[in-house]
Amino acid sequence: MKPALVVGNWKMHGTRSEAVKLATGVLEASRRNLSVEVVLAPPFTALAAVSAALRCGAVRLAAQNLHWETEGAFTGEISVSMLRDLDCRYVIVGHSERRRLFGESDAIVAKKVGAALSAGLRPILCVGETLGERRRGRTNGVIARQLRVALKGLSKSAIEKLTFAYEPVWAIGTGKNATPEQIAAVHRFVRELLRRRAGLSARACRILYGGSVRPDNAAELAAQPEVDGVLVGGASLKVGAFASIVRSFGATAV
Ligand code: PEP
Repeated sequence: MKPALVVGNWKMHGTRSEAVKLATGVLEASRRNLSVEVVLAPPFTALAAVSAALRCGAVRLAAQNLHWETEGAFTGEISVSMLRDLDCRYVIVGHSERRRLFGESDAIVAKKVGAALSAGLRPILCVGETLGERRRGRTNGVIARQLRVALKGLSKSAIEKLTFAYEPVWAIGTGKNATPEQIAAVHRFVRELLRRRAGLSARACRILYGGSVRPDNAAELAAQPEVDGVLVGGASLKVGAFASIVRSFGATAV
């Protein structure tokens, strides 16, 4: 059984010293929750410092983004070998902020997934619909398209290395949660797609939920059998709030 996975996405927050303080606090608080896999995704500028701070513990490191080429004239970009060099284990790919604000298409997301896998990094692939798409009954269609393109050409064993994060765009940073029923329906849909696409058993890949996860709603999410963990933005910036979310998942095993 895989442990529940709780990922903190710090986005563009924190200097190196702030990041190390937060990481150290999370590391300390997580020692009591060994049944949960805890992952932190600091900004690129803090990865080295946080990597050093996490060296002696079980909390793992993720990057928030990557470029798909191995090296070259790509000003401002970061390659997989640079992330491996910093001991990153995971990388977030296809976050809705990347898709929406930086024009990342499904095809770009697919290239990033492929690059991460080829270098031994584990992608956390984000999918999710906008409010308009949900209102028009397009949720499943959008998620099916995002997954079809992102997984194109990947073998079953490659897909098994992925973690999926269902993040409805309308729930990210808005304080509005998807309901447990909405989340369960999408997670079941994703598992069914993975079964049809790659013959994966229902529990082969972890499927996280993300979107305004807080200490006061984490226990309800952790109690949902379809939810294998969470991707947390805002609430991951405070040790106490994040530790409380980790504790909520402490009693569950996927
Ligand atoms: C996110 O950025 O992936 C996210 C879910 O943010 P928040 O928890 O702040 O909604």
